[in-house]
Amino acid sequence: MREPSAASGAVSSNLLFQKSAVWSPMVVDLNGNKLEGDKKPSSDLPTHVELYKCFPEIGAIVHTHSQYATSFAQARKPICCYGTTHADHFHGVIPVTCDLNQEEIERDYELNTGKAIVRALREQGIKALEVPACLVASHGPFVWGASAEEALENAIALEEIAKMNLNVLLLNPKIQQIGQNLLDKHFYRKHGETAYYGQEK
Ligand SMILES: [Zn+2]
Repeated sequence: MREPSAASGAVSSNLLFQKSAVWSPMVVDLNGNKLEGDKKPSSDLPTHVELYKCFPEIGAIVHTHSQYATSFAQARKPICCYGTTHADHFHGVIPVTCDLNQEEIERDYELNTGKAIVRALREQGIKALEVPACLVASHGPFVWGASAEEALENAIALEEIAKMNLNVLLLNPKIQQIGQNLLDKHFYRKHGETAYYGQEK
């Protein structure tokens, strides 16, 4: 996750805070240089750094190989919006990246994975916090949010949606996506300036 400048004292917001499997914090800058911690950064770090650099609105990223979302990534099939559970979290289709070519795999593979995600979003005119996920072809989902809590919630929602989509497509292979009105209604009642869903704070 991006280190909030208020909590980090002297360090700027252009930092990443990463927890390893044993919860040992690692802090690096946006060039991937280690600033704090004794462990080696994750090998996926260049993917994450690329996303933080290109989308300043992203506060945290979650990468999983969760079964159903990864199944769609491996099938190279975007996750279409067939219901309001999807629309509550993602404002439209969750895209799939193009395949990396041989050179992109052999050299700077993790960085090129990040670039493929950025390309997929930009080519489809997607705003990062409106559709906070992308499926990396033949690999798995990268999911994000403005905060760590949001990123985690989106990753859990993505897996549930992928599972439901598989059932929906089995039950009705000709199903159409929900209409734009219903998609907008569900997404914008929870997100953005016009949000009104939930309890008052
Ligand atoms: Zn992975």
